[in-house]
Amino acid sequence: MNQINLDDLYAAIRDVPDFPTPGVVFKDITPFLLNSHLFGNAVSRLIEEFRRGNVEKVLAIESRGFILGAPVALGLGAGLILARKEGKLPWERRRVEYALEYGTDAIEIHMDAIEPGDRVLVVDDVLATGGTAQAAARAVSEAGGELVGLAFLIELGFLNGRDKLQPARTWSLLHYD
Ligand code: AMP
Repeated sequence: MNQINLDDLYAAIRDVPDFPTPGVVFKDITPFLLNSHLFGNAVSRLIEEFRRGNVEKVLAIESRGFILGAPVALGLGAGLILARKEGKLPWERRRVEYALEYGTDAIEIHMDAIEPGDRVLVVDDVLATGGTAQAAARAVSEAGGELVGLAFLIELGFLNGRDKLQPARTWSLLHYD
């Protein structure tokens, strides 16, 4: 696969103003997903970045995190953990709550998803305020896993989400400041 051109990647992310609520500029990755060259290269970059991390499990965050997390897990030879919104997983669950602007939300993973000492990489499409990723990181540590890092396709730097994730290694391919 030819090397990725970051400008082409940025051009494939569509800004949708005022979605899902007024004032939010939604980063729509569907044009990027339509292009197998861009999608494949971005996944390869992510895999390369963490290849030396001895990752045993990739924890992907619902729902667009699943799209990136699955090929990254396969590329790293790691298992795939689904972190889902409350009430979606069928088996015994570990639940982590996190604060929203108004109220709280929660993500869940299966109780048997992480063994103590497992080396886990968290993957999602967008790092915004960092609340969701921070909850995922907490799920890893509460299960006794070791957090290798957190990887994102897109980071909205102006929301300072990475501050919440310190001291974990946080890596993003595309940055909006
Ligand atoms: P946060 O907890 O604020 O970091 O939000 C992260 C989650 O919300 C991720 O799972 C993203 O998919 C989604 N998200 C937040 N902001 C945006 C945005 N501007 N565009 C697309 N997805 C977003």
